[in-house]
Amino acid sequence: MAVSETTSERTAVASSVSSTKAAGFTVPSTKEIIITIDGPAGTGKSTVARRLAQRLGLDFLDTGAMYRAAAAIMIDREYGEDEIGELVSTVIGADLHFDWSQDPPTILAWDTPIDHRIRSDDVTKRVSFVATIPELRTHMVRKQRIIFAQHPRLVTEGRDQGSVAFPDAPVKFYLDADPRVRAERRIDQLGLGGDVSVEEMCDRILERDRIDSTRSDGPLVCPDDAIVIDTSSMSIDDVIDEMERVVRDRLDEL
Ligand code: C5P
Repeated sequence: MAVSETTSERTAVASSVSSTKAAGFTVPSTKEIIITIDGPAGTGKSTVARRLAQRLGLDFLDTGAMYRAAAAIMIDREYGEDEIGELVSTVIGADLHFDWSQDPPTILAWDTPIDHRIRSDDVTKRVSFVATIPELRTHMVRKQRIIFAQHPRLVTEGRDQGSVAFPDAPVKFYLDADPRVRAERRIDQLGLGGDVSVEEMCDRILERDRIDSTRSDGPLVCPDDAIVIDTSSMSIDDVIDEMERVVRDRLDEL
């Protein structure tokens, strides 16, 4: 199946955007703020982060796209796992950056849009390995901080945004969900009903969680000061409403 998880997730987002009720609350335009959203695969993070940013009038950063871009470069340049130095130099030379005139922003390498490439299956399979490379993570975190300096009203989502990239963020969320629910959502999103069992998808998701949470550098962790939302039995709109409430309260304190 060529459709990647993330592409389908985005399709699901697009169809659910139209059902968003107008909230009327935006972060005052004079206010600089960073909101981090971390959590494992299949919790609805990308969808929620993008929709929350739209609702609050903030920019949205998909840090997974940066690691996916590095994985695509590794595959397309045919680097082996023993050629980490060359890979990191090439990724640095690619000057990964986003086109912020698009919604969501598209990612470019060597000034060429590569969004279509990073959502494919081979990249999804390779990305967890690439994300374990400490030198690459250091480079990505540095880039993410530069992006925040240029976009100081930001919702950023990933695995290490509240823990490593922006430990001083005033609002941090950690999304979680029951693995079985996450597996069922993924099967629905990918239109794989009947092709993949819930058990098999659950195994795939748990394996990705295992790699993401056991790496030495920037592992997936729940920051101590993050607000944890279990999305297992919540709709996307409910999750965003809850987050908006938290941001409103926190803004009053800032
Ligand atoms: O969010 P997405 O599924 O696109 O992320 C792809 C992969 O990139 C994750 O499974 C993880 O290995 C890696 N990642 C990361 N740190 C981030 C964002 C993503 O390690 N901040």
